[in-house]
Amino acid sequence: MSSELNKLDLVSKLDIAICEADSLRGVIKIGLPGLLEVLNRENGGIFIPKTYKKREPIWLTLSPLDAWVDGNRNISAQLLYEITNFIEGKSREEKSYRRELFQLFPLYWKQEIQAIIVLDSQDIPKKDLLLLNLVRNSIARELFIHQTKVTTISSEQYLTTLRIISATQSSELNLNDVQLWILKGIKDTFKGEMAGLVLLDPENPSIAQKKMVGTGSEWLINDTIRFEKGILKNCVEKSLFYQVVDVLNDQMFDYETDSCRDITKRSMICSPIIINSVTVGVITIYNSPHTPLDAFDQGLLVSLATSLANSIYNNQLIQQLKIANADLEASGWELLNSRNTLRALFDSIPASFYIIDRNYALVAINRSRATRAGIAPNLLVGKRCYEALHHQSSPCPGCKVAETLYNGGLTNRNQRFWGDNDTSTEWEISTYPILDNNELAIQAILFEQDVTEKRHLETELIQSEKLAAVGQLAAGVAHEINNPLAAVIANAQILMRDLPKDEDDWIESVKLIETAGQRAGNVVKNLLGLARKELYEFLPINLNESIQNALNLLSHELLVHPVTINFDAGEGFPMLVASKENMQSVWINIIMNAIEAIGENEGNIIVSTRYRDGEFNITIRDNGPGIPENQVGKIFEPFFTTKSPLKGTGLGLSVVHRIIKSHGGRILVESELGRGTQFTILLPENKQY
Ligand code: ADP
Ligand code: MG
Repeated sequence: MSSELNKLDLVSKLDIAICEADSLRGVIKIGLPGLLEVLNRENGGIFIPKTYKKREPIWLTLSPLDAWVDGNRNISAQLLYEITNFIEGKSREEKSYRRELFQLFPLYWKQEIQAIIVLDSQDIPKKDLLLLNLVRNSIARELFIHQTKVTTISSEQYLTTLRIISATQSSELNLNDVQLWILKGIKDTFKGEMAGLVLLDPENPSIAQKKMVGTGSEWLINDTIRFEKGILKNCVEKSLFYQVVDVLNDQMFDYETDSCRDITKRSMICSPIIINSVTVGVITIYNSPHTPLDAFDQGLLVSLATSLANSIYNNQLIQQLKIANADLEASGWELLNSRNTLRALFDSIPASFYIIDRNYALVAINRSRATRAGIAPNLLVGKRCYEALHHQSSPCPGCKVAETLYNGGLTNRNQRFWGDNDTSTEWEISTYPILDNNELAIQAILFEQDVTEKRHLETELIQSEKLAAVGQLAAGVAHEINNPLAAVIANAQILMRDLPKDEDDWIESVKLIETAGQRAGNVVKNLLGLARKELYEFLPINLNESIQNALNLLSHELLVHPVTINFDAGEGFPMLVASKENMQSVWINIIMNAIEAIGENEGNIIVSTRYRDGEFNITIRDNGPGIPENQVGKIFEPFFTTKSPLKGTGLGLSVVHRIIKSHGGRILVESELGRGTQFTILLPENKQY
């Protein structure tokens, strides 16, 4: 069984080899020994009668005829006689013809005997007969093809055209050149006077592109035409091969569609161009001497048309691919560009910015937020926000992202975070939804902004406004009190002068009136100072010197209070442009407050000065009792005092505040109950006044 299969395999290989043979002789040279091998025989020959166009018959054997039958020398003559008889029709329908010394097997193709295989008279087993028939068929077919080819179109020309087509398939040529080359090849193969190509408009089958090529190497015609009737239209519509010897007498002929310039039309051969079972156009050859083509040549033309179709199709695909590729590349660049832009934008925002999906996974996170978390952005993406950013094992209580993802709304809130050493920062946190087409929030954007500084500035602003209002009010009142006060003091002094020297009690009382009056006068003076927009004289001063002077003035206070003052003066400062007197009152006010706060206890005050990047930084720190939290916000307000009416006016710090502001600076206070208070004053070096 397996040897049968092997033989079948042999037959099919033989078939391919015969097919690929490039000449009549080639077919014989491959076919005959192959057949004998299949049949396990040594003796055999093939006879090709001179049926075809005046050619001599061919007679070929693999071994001398004499060797077939011992001693019989007449076999040759007998064989020829039998063969001639056979061919002349005596036994035309027969599949084989058996004689004593040999047997004949005619090879038919298209009802014609193409050749006769001659074998010796040995019986052929039945199972080999089938194989014999298969091989007979392929040899017959190829003999037919090669004989016909010689008689009509030149095989060389045909092969050249095929080669052109296959070259154009992979080349970089544009479609127009591909069409021109192939069409010229077809025209030459069939020796036409002209060849044409009509391609339907893909959008509208009543319009077509018509191209014609003649002897030159350029299109003679390259036009868009109406394509509604005519031989060519018919060929396209029916997807049928069509040829007509006398064009002008053909009913279907339409001058506009079917005509071509410069030649007198006699004949036309039309072969449809079919791509993926859709007829897209037609090839036509005018005045080919071979018209009408026989079946074989028709086959050749159809195969060329198919190749052309493939070529067109490939070229279209390649063009489309190229365009798509270019598009893709361009949009790739665009994408990359906008992605980089977006990334840069995202990262350059100083606020924290990140996106979270419905599983709380981080989709994107900007540099600022990642830096706060102390991890590179790319390592955070994909992690759950509550784990990676808040070190929790489940979503944070009251999570606003959940709210936004749930109802697609915006949220906004302020939150205070406590740092390591009791410092706190205030954050404004907003969430925004990213909606899909169904208005469902699929992701949420979080925006976190540190508003600590903003809040400070806001409170300062409110403070300044409050001060200005109170100042104005106070100024009015002060003015009203000033004159009566002056009268009180003056009269007290007159009384003192005129009172008898021994009226001690009276003198004491009048002295009290004078002191109280002077005190009130001081308050009024301060008040007026607060409200008046004095014209400060700004001059370059030495900051450390200014503070040292203030400390000298305060030295008498240190005699009565158990307080030490350390002055940590920075070095190498530039000059500070400021009002000398006002600056001194700033230092005195703040240091006096500190001394008073420390009171009867032992304590110390550290004054330090620093300079950096155009800004002076002066801190005055004491280890007094500190200021209760609910009072810290009030100490700069005029008249806010916690001291007895005789000791405090509550105006000192409001004056300080006004002076610092008018120097373009800022004053900050930090205080902790039981530990002390620190004032920080920031002054710009060069302010334009
Ligand atoms: P006065 O000194 O007249 O009370 P100030 O405006 O100078 O008015 O000060 C306002 C208040 O601020 C003080 O009464 C005191 O309660 C508080 N204060 C100022 N400096 C200090 C300090 N170093 N330590 C504690 N409290 C202070
Ligand atoms: Mg004071």
